[in-house]
Amino acid sequence: MTPRRLTILGATGSIGASTLDVVSRHPDRFSVWAVSAHRQLERLAEVIRTHRPRVAVVVDSVAADRLAALLGAEVECDIRWGVDALVEIASAPEVDSVMAAIVGAAGLAPSLAAAKAGKRILLANKEALVMSGHIFLAAARASGAVVLPIDSEHNAIFQSLPNSFDYGLQHCGVRKLLLTASGGPFRNASLAALHEATPEQAVAHPNWVMGRKISVDSATLMNKGLEVIEAHWLFGVDADRIEVVVHPQSVIHSMVEYLDGSVLAQLGNPDMRTPIAHALAYPERIESGVAALDFSRIGQFSFETPDLLRFPCLKLAFDALHARGNAAAVLNAANEVAVEAFLSREIRFTDIADTVAAALETVPGAEIDSLDAVLHADAQSRRAAQAYIARRKEKA
Ligand code: NAD
Ligand code: MG
Repeated sequence: MTPRRLTILGATGSIGASTLDVVSRHPDRFSVWAVSAHRQLERLAEVIRTHRPRVAVVVDSVAADRLAALLGAEVECDIRWGVDALVEIASAPEVDSVMAAIVGAAGLAPSLAAAKAGKRILLANKEALVMSGHIFLAAARASGAVVLPIDSEHNAIFQSLPNSFDYGLQHCGVRKLLLTASGGPFRNASLAALHEATPEQAVAHPNWVMGRKISVDSATLMNKGLEVIEAHWLFGVDADRIEVVVHPQSVIHSMVEYLDGSVLAQLGNPDMRTPIAHALAYPERIESGVAALDFSRIGQFSFETPDLLRFPCLKLAFDALHARGNAAAVLNAANEVAVEAFLSREIRFTDIADTVAAALETVPGAEIDSLDAVLHADAQSRRAAQAYIARRKEKA
């Protein structure tokens, strides 16, 4: 078989590393055609030496020069920079599949380009879908692009649905989607403790090893909120048919409840190589390097209802989904600003939700019917969030 050619957007990140690990187990099936990274150039040079992609994209010309120097003359690789170059490698005719693993709104332009170009999109970059769900999916439908979810919850739901779910979930007797959540590092923390929570504590996730931004999102439960919105778009289901269940063991990755009372679930060790391998080879199955589940070691599964008082971000996301229009894009952008500010110790952990709520109150509701409208909502929200944080710092 001819190997499938891949572009890996965000190749130096946590999802990027897991993707490269799975790919390297199957050199007959996959070859890496292009990679991108923002600033981690040493790591990118290492990736290029090992996987020999034709093209690499970095943030700017300074980074491109540094990468060229790191690689030296013996490694042949076309080094490009900037957003246009990201769009090029996401839509190049040479490429079959695109792993969209850039974190945050920065991933929107290349993810959308892959959707327009009819690629197989392995979608990890949930923020792109949250911002622009309607536009992104319309582009994918028009081009015939196949969108395969990488987020473990959505991948689990995808695996627990019949192939005919494209005709609508009602058609195949689905009553509800049950998204599981680990509860994050502060599952049992008091409100007072959350007030004092540090970035180090917030990024120390009990079950998953992930990038810093998604780790903070997991600690506030905003990650679950973004995933509710992601599920709405991917599976065409309204908010009232999506339920979040806290499952601290992170072994059941999500479930689908049917009208007859059946609940189908996908289980596995918490390791992103499983959903990545599933999507890379779909509809076939391949080795991922993930160990088999050891039920006697797990012992028991437990479940809880999420506490919206301690974790208001989850409620804000449900509210944004109900509000429709630009609310999800506003929620996402304000959250990105707030998480950055928390990581750089400008605000407290509990200020993240307040910042997002302030942006949702400040930015007027509007329809989202174009990419410009998405970017406008994103910019308005970032300004509102920054203004709120500035006021907050003045008071402190
Ligand atoms: P990460 O921080 O480890 O990696 C992010 C990658 O994006 C890096 O390669 C970085 O160079 C690149 N990047 C960052 N800012 C950029 C910018 N402005 N322009 C271009 N590239 C940029 O993040 P991650 O944990 O790998 O997460 C990536 C995406 O996958 C996120 O959207 C996250 O929500 C999603 N996701 C991650 C996991 C996980 O287990 N890590 C699980 C589910 C979903
Ligand atoms: Mg997830």
